Amino acid sequence: MNLFDVYPLYNITPVKAVDCTITDENGVEYLDLYSGHGVISIGHTQPHYVTKVKEQLDNIGFYSNAIQNPLQVELAQKLGELSGYDDYSLFLCSSGAEANENALKLASFHNGKSRVIAFDNSFHGRTSAAVAVTDNKKIVAPINAQQVVTFLPLNQIDLVETELQKGDVCTVIIEGIQGVGGLDEGTTEFFQALEKLCKQYEAVLILDEVQSGYGRSGKFFAHQYHNIKADIICLAKGMGNGFPIGGILIAPHFKASYGLLGTTFGGSHLACAAGIAVLDVIKSEKLMDNVNAVSEYFMKAIQQVPEIIKVKGKGLMLGVEFDFDVSALRKKMIVEKHIFTGSANNKNLLRILPPLTITTAAIDTFIVALKESLAELK
Ligand code: PLP
Repeated sequence: MNLFDVYPLYNITPVKAVDCTITDENGVEYLDLYSGHGVISIGHTQPHYVTKVKEQLDNIGFYSNAIQNPLQVELAQKLGELSGYDDYSLFLCSSGAEANENALKLASFHNGKSRVIAFDNSFHGRTSAAVAVTDNKKIVAPINAQQVVTFLPLNQIDLVETELQKGDVCTVIIEGIQGVGGLDEGTTEFFQALEKLCKQYEAVLILDEVQSGYGRSGKFFAHQYHNIKADIICLAKGMGNGFPIGGILIAPHFKASYGLLGTTFGGSHLACAAGIAVLDVIKSEKLMDNVNAVSEYFMKAIQQVPEIIKVKGKGLMLGVEFDFDVSALRKKMIVEKHIFTGSANNKNLLRILPPLTITTAAIDTFIVALKESLAELK
């Protein structure tokens, strides 16, 4: 059987990874500045994480959500403490799309409305409940036949209010910082007005922090830069450091009832062990402090590269913008300089999403390689 060919693959086969270094089958080492789409938060094969996951696997890996699992309670407590959302509740699932699907569903159950407002260039996943923009084409997949998604430009609050005034908007879903779309983000003024208008028009504010959450922005959630609280917050990626786990944080005014939400795999013992280990390491290693320190260093160091027009994003969720398509540059960085970076829908953007453990020395290595590559491509 062949693999369904939907990914253009680089000719590299990683066989080992430690912290921010990936080694391929030929023993060549690569610097990981992309974390497999922002997934590796505490570093590849982090020792505490590996021990905890292995120990859990030796005991019990999975059983049904209908049976008590104290690891879910421990995960919720630790997540509440570290995120500042300790009065919210946690529903666990297995991916970002599933988190968003449950968030949209919960919002619809809550207020009985169905229309969704999302923003141009947003990316919320690929399942039946999600909206996505790929290659500048909007792919809108409604939850059900009644659900319509309206896309609006970011930072134009009047347009949002015009839609909310129609009275049928169930929810506004927005990324803390846009990932796949190209690192655009709402202003503080916009986020604060969104929060106020959602309350006024009884729409649920969903913050998709699947990529921008878990300390990546330098705060636990990127929307915490704007002094707002969301009704529902969606998580995944960095939450499991590679183990598939996602979740939604739900504000106290949502009422739970049996059967309202459900999942087979979400919150398994193994997923919780991974999730708890990630939170423990983020806390004990003070990784958010590292994010802020290395980010500041990056912003200064990158000024040595005059070809760069702009650096977008926050913390270690960054997009380096040029005035040309960076595909060849990115390829050269991987194949010749052995540094992984990412691409975005905006073809002029090189995405930098390293593990949160990255050092300033690694940033220096990146800058040298970037300068060499730019010179060689001239
Ligand atoms: N939401 C955001 C902001 C994302 O960046 C992604 C994935 O890139 C998703 C949702 C979907 O997550 P998953 O691929 O885990 O379903």
